[in-house]
Order: sequence, then structure tokens, then C-alpha cells
Amino acid sequence: MKVVKTVKSLRTFVSAARDAARTIGFVPTMGALHEGHLSLIKRSVKNGDFVVVSIFVNPTQFGPKEDLAKYPRPLRKDLQLCKKHNVDAVFVPDVKEMYQAGGLSWVSVEKLSDPLCGRIRPGHFRGVATVCAKLFNIVGPDVAYFGQKDAQQAIIIERMVADLNLPLKIVVCPTVRASDGLALSSRNQYLSPQQRKDAACIYRSLRAARKMIKEGVTNPKTICARMRKIISRAESLTAIDYISITEGNTLQDLHRITGRVLIAVAARFGSTRLIDNLIVDSGKR
Ligand code: AMP
Repeated sequence: MKVVKTVKSLRTFVSAARDAARTIGFVPTMGALHEGHLSLIKRSVKNGDFVVVSIFVNPTQFGPKEDLAKYPRPLRKDLQLCKKHNVDAVFVPDVKEMYQAGGLSWVSVEKLSDPLCGRIRPGHFRGVATVCAKLFNIVGPDVAYFGQKDAQQAIIIERMVADLNLPLKIVVCPTVRASDGLALSSRNQYLSPQQRKDAACIYRSLRAARKMIKEGVTNPKTICARMRKIISRAESLTAIDYISITEGNTLQDLHRITGRVLIAVAARFGSTRLIDNLIVDSGKR
């Protein structure tokens, strides 16, 4: 496994694989790798790809009051995990390598970046779209793998790729969860034991919502109220950023549940912000 820090050496290494007619698979991450990330890597390995993983804590997707400085960076452990899972190349640029001084260009995916996390984290998805566009241009993958855990991010990246005619395929992989249902996240390690225990209420609320939809409830407000009740019982909850049911592809608000919907939650336990979601086909047209 090759570990490279510069754009130039990454390009050289990947182009040799491309010349050898390998499919280039790409898994962009911010590190602190867990089974969620590893599921994307495994999918790429299974696809027979030349697997490139990036580990880069992207400053442009963090707000001024967010956790950029304290974001976990266990690089040695991450590299061991990559090696164990047969990754071919790990790209670990520093901020200067990714953002030349004086950069003026950004990628904004309009409308889709406004609701949900976009409302709470202004500029977040501009940072995400920009860094993904840059990484796609650096790596030149045939396929890039993203997690359903970050549903809005996956939708935005898919749209960016379509709108800008980027020559790659996006594969969205299922959310990997702990045994109590909590979605795995690098941020879970910030949680105290009590907060960690309480945080399982997010998935419980999503499951309750799915059940209501399957039972035929069509008013999103009724379902969101039930979810709020479940989450609010958690002792260590500090805030609910949103509980939302939207159309599954466009993220538009729904007055009545029809088609494929995205149920999404963002909630804080102590100062740790957690997100999760489920896609549900209501079976209603
Ligand atoms: P991050 O390091 O948080 O930027 O995540 C890198 C990639 O891993 C993104 O595509 C995430 O959606 C994905 N990911 C993170 N957590 C999970 C999870 N629990 N299950 C599946 N994919 C995940």
C-alpha cells in the first residue's frame, strides 16, 4: 500500500494503475476510520477496483464554531486499517497541498444545499462539494463510494457529478450501525457513556417513523411529533437541530407522504451533533 501526500505523486501512482486497465475506486474520508468507512472500502475491493482512500479533514466544510481543531486524527491506526483491508493507495494531503493560497473557485449545488444540515451549517455543503470536485479531479476515479449515513451529502454529490458531467459513477452504500442502532460516526467517540446510551433514541425514532408510514400515516407532522417525543426523553439531549420528512431525491418539504421519502434527524448530545436518516418507500402515489 502506498501512502502519498502530494497531488503529483498520487496522480503518477494512479495513472500507472489506469494504464494497467484497472478500474479506479475512490473512498473519500476524513479519517478516524470505523466499520462504516470500511464497508465502503470493502465494496470497492469487492468490485475489483484499484482502491484509493483519501484521509483529509477538510477545513472548508467546518463552520467557525465547529469541531475542526478537535476532530480525531488517528492517522497511524487509519493506515493500518487501510492496509489490512487491501487498499492500494492512501492520499493524505495537508491543507496547503489541497488549497493553494488565494483559491477563488467554489462548487455550490444550489437548492439541495439549503435545507436540513445546510440550514444549520451554512457553507458546509459548498465545502463538501468543492473538496469532492477537487479530489475527483486529482484521483480521476471511475467509481466513488459514499455512505447513506450522510444522505444529503450523497444526493448533493450525485447531482454535482450529473450537472458538471464528471466522468465517474457514484455508489451509495447502506448505513452501518452499532448493535443498538446508533449509526457509526467518527464523532461518536466524543460521547460520554450516558450520551452514547441516550443517542440510540435517534434510530428508535426513525424506526417508529418508518412503522407509522408503513401503517398508512400520511401527515408528516404527526410522525415528526412522535419522533420528537421519543428523542426528547433522552436525559443528555441538548438540542434537536431538525426532524424532517422530505421527498427522497429533491429534499422538498411534503405536506402529505407519498412516494419515496427521506426521514432525517440531527440532534445534539452535550456538544456532539449526530445525524441519521432512513429512506422509506411509502407505497403511496
Ligand atoms: P467522513 O469521514 O465522516 O467524511 O465519512 C466518509 C464517508 O464514509 C462518507 O461517504 C460517509 O457517508 C461514510 N460513512 C460514515 N459513517 C458511515 C456509516 N455509519 N455507514 C456507512 N457509511 C458511513
